[in-house]
Amino acid sequence: MPPSDKALVPFVSVDHMMQIVHRVGLAQMITRIAEAIEEDFRRWDSFDKTPRVAAHSPLGVIELMPTANDRHYAFKYVNGHPKNTVDGLQTVTAFGLLADMDSGYPLLLSEMTLLTALRTAAMSAVAAKHLAPTGAKTMALIGNGAQAEFQSIAMQAICGLETVRLYDTDPQATAKCAANLAGRGLAVVACDSAEAAIEGAEILTTCTADKQYATILSDNMVGGGMHINAIGGDCPGKTELARAILHRSAIFVEYSPQTRIEGEIQQLDSDHPVTELWQVIAGTARGRRDAREITLFDSVGFAIEDFSALRVVHDLARETGLTLPLDLLADPDDPRDLYGMLMRAAG
Ligand code: NAD
Repeated sequence: MPPSDKALVPFVSVDHMMQIVHRVGLAQMITRIAEAIEEDFRRWDSFDKTPRVAAHSPLGVIELMPTANDRHYAFKYVNGHPKNTVDGLQTVTAFGLLADMDSGYPLLLSEMTLLTALRTAAMSAVAAKHLAPTGAKTMALIGNGAQAEFQSIAMQAICGLETVRLYDTDPQATAKCAANLAGRGLAVVACDSAEAAIEGAEILTTCTADKQYATILSDNMVGGGMHINAIGGDCPGKTELARAILHRSAIFVEYSPQTRIEGEIQQLDSDHPVTELWQVIAGTARGRRDAREITLFDSVGFAIEDFSALRVVHDLARETGLTLPLDLLADPDDPRDLYGMLMRAAG
């Protein structure tokens, strides 16, 4: 007996996701996810929230990121293994699920490696939109790996970025990023040091992968009025900024109980004041106070951003039909006769 429609779970494969992105347009898709994140951050209190559940090994981390509101439940499985690229594997891969709260049935299973890059870029641009100095047009992007192009395109689409200045310890990564960004209307400058990359930049994005307390930006590199998006410090013992920068910055985070464990602020006392970004978006807390202030978005990635991205993909999957029906849920004719269904399969 074939499974009924209600038991077939739509699956968005990597190929489907790429087709969806091309149908919608990359910048438009990132913008749509950014709008969904802002909408969900405005109703922050309606979500169940918990720091993600992490399993650490000497080489990396595997994390489970759940959240729910009264309608939907979502989780993402994601890894972070900085040395993977040496073996031809990615640092970050992910997949996830959106489910219906009333029945508990999954609505969508999706690849989320690409989707994580889209939503992380959308989140960075939302933070910069609310925190960066007025008229910021130039970004230094340090770390030119898998996330880098997405970060640049999101900033261009949402914040009006005109120039991106690239630096990576691996010149091949910078060359790849510069080539990929050519012809998109962004001025791209490849630099041979982090110091050179930050020249003239109002926005500094650090997006490196290294499992250590790294110093991608030292204190003397950050001048008054800059906005920093620190993306790559997202795990205990894995940070990117000199501690002194944190003491000079107004710090904005996603969900403080998680960021205290994983973010740049793991370097600070546990009562150091931070503002959750949703409060700025909802208008209940101030963002940037003046043109001289250094603002820091201490990004680690939070489950609500994946929830927002998954509900955008759920809508687009229905609109485009770009899914594969997965026989994921057992579906006996009599819901209480699971055993009978199994035994009938013998014949
Ligand atoms: P990646 O491995 O593809 O790229 C990382 C790049 O950083 C590499 O090109 C590497 O050469 C470069 N790098 C390492 N050390 C450097 C240094 N000292 N100076 C300059 N460049 C350096 O990784 P990715 O997928 O692009 O992810 C980048 C980081 O972002 C990772 O640490 C990842 O865990 C993190 N991340 C965060 C979020 C979030 O929501 N905050 C989401 C996704 C990924």
